[in-house]
Amino acid sequence: MSETSKSLNFIEQIVEEDLVNGYTKDELRFRFPPEPNGYLHIGHASSICLNFGLGLRYNAPVNLRFDDTNPAKEEQEFVDAIKKDVEWLGFKWDTERYASDYFQQLYDWAVELVKQGKAYVDNQSSEEMAAQKGTPTEPGTDSPNRNRSIEENLELFEKMKNGEFKEGTHVLRAKIDMTSSNMLMRDPIMYRILHKAHHRTNTDWCIYPMYDWTHGESDYIEQVSHSFCTLEFAMHRELYNWFLDQVYDETKVRPKQREFARRNLSHTVVSKRKLAQLVEKGVVNGWDDPRMPTISGLRRRGYTPESIRNFVDTIGIAKRDNLIDVSLLEFNVREHLNKTTHRVMGVLNPLKVVITNYPEGETEWLVAENSPEDENAGSREVPFSREIYIEQEDFREAANKKFFRLKLGNEVRLKNGYIIKAESCTKDTEGNITEVQCTYDPKSKSGSGTEESLRKVKGTLHWISIEHAVKAEVRLYDRLFTDESPDTHKDKDFLDFINPDSLTVINGYVEPALKNAQPGDTFQFQRIGYFCVDPDTTADNLVFNRTVGLRDSWAKVQEKK
Ligand code: ATP
Ligand code: MG
Repeated sequence: MSETSKSLNFIEQIVEEDLVNGYTKDELRFRFPPEPNGYLHIGHASSICLNFGLGLRYNAPVNLRFDDTNPAKEEQEFVDAIKKDVEWLGFKWDTERYASDYFQQLYDWAVELVKQGKAYVDNQSSEEMAAQKGTPTEPGTDSPNRNRSIEENLELFEKMKNGEFKEGTHVLRAKIDMTSSNMLMRDPIMYRILHKAHHRTNTDWCIYPMYDWTHGESDYIEQVSHSFCTLEFAMHRELYNWFLDQVYDETKVRPKQREFARRNLSHTVVSKRKLAQLVEKGVVNGWDDPRMPTISGLRRRGYTPESIRNFVDTIGIAKRDNLIDVSLLEFNVREHLNKTTHRVMGVLNPLKVVITNYPEGETEWLVAENSPEDENAGSREVPFSREIYIEQEDFREAANKKFFRLKLGNEVRLKNGYIIKAESCTKDTEGNITEVQCTYDPKSKSGSGTEESLRKVKGTLHWISIEHAVKAEVRLYDRLFTDESPDTHKDKDFLDFINPDSLTVINGYVEPALKNAQPGDTFQFQRIGYFCVDPDTTADNLVFNRTVGLRDSWAKVQEKK
């Protein structure tokens, strides 16, 4: 569907309505506001595509704003990783902003609120404050500090700022309404004391603004017109508006918060906090482990930006939370890689085949098309010789009629090459097949134009000439969790559902054309799946990651269960 004929999602409809009822096109401005406390994940991709997509649609600026108000969890490493991932996904931000740039302005506004009697310092314990909060059905009770004098509040707030108090002893609270039906309006905390260095402001501050106080005001400072966030913030909207009311000047653009559903992916967790645990506990090898649902993990796994954007587009923007099956993500990468990768041959579990009537010491270079999907992809040469590897599972001594691969007395075609027939096989003392002896039909070479070259046999196998084979370490990945929604069980921790077999490392062989493949290069290993070169690759150790199998094998396994 073309961009114009596609129906608008509900977020786009909100913007369209606002363009009719108030905002001018020039006033549109969006932002993507990650907290730099971890790496971005596939859930964030939805938010990125939504906000930057709106920017492209309306030709409006989109800021990348780091919501960096919690020095305990935030780091420069995460800032750098987030920037890299947004760029890699294919988006350009207008300006790079930090909530921490607004600490002074936020403080000045807070002092104004104190002066107007709309904020006060509370030095009760957090337990005392919690007890006064009430419940959704019962109103809260006022703090004994609620009616402190303005002078005293100003003095205490100043002392908080100057580092004269210990962590947890004082907070600044907005004086709103302890009886509000919205618990968030019951005198929410605006500032807390944290004697921690911040990755950008260092030790300039020892009081840090809370999310609610920071987010809307940052939107306002940046003159963001639409502040889209996930549904868990729906109840915060009233507070967002209350805080805006305190500083809003009618000549300016008033930001509008609206909510959309969080995206959850099956067989994984999409929460930076939980992903951080996987990293810290060594369940995975870092944030970019190819089993992680992080953007960096998906990139290392061989996903393309297009495939992720297409996935996000397919699932769309929703009003209710739901679980998206990871096979849909895999479908999207398979589809894109099908169009873009070269077909090559790799054998993962080698079985030696000797072609007894082929001359010893001879090598022949066969022509192999790089891609049937792309006529400009060209071709390459693949060496053929007397001894080759095929997959162990492609040979059986005897098998029923449905087995179209190699069995004794039967013929198959070698991809891009000849028809061979299995004559006999050799076994070790335990009965494992160690070698298969075949004969080949010299006239059957693919593309040679002879009658025999056109002869149809049921099976076609991939293979590698042993003499020319390049060794490769191949990392095969499976779901990281055995459960569909590992973090939704009341009685169990998500870590209880780790799949012990999420990574299998094997040594396989690939054709010589891949000898100098570079990290990030992607291929289709014919009949097996899509693979990419891992950055762990060195001059003498080629490492491949399996991005995804050719077909959805997981669905089949599930059906059988
Ligand atoms: P996490 O729990 O993973 O840290 P978060 O919401 O706290 O998630 P932020 O860094 O605050 O992470 O998120 C930046 C933006 O991305 C926010 O607007 C947030 O609503 C959005 N976002 C985060 N996770 C998802 C998700 N799973 N689906 C859609 N949007 C998301
Ligand atoms: Mg967060």
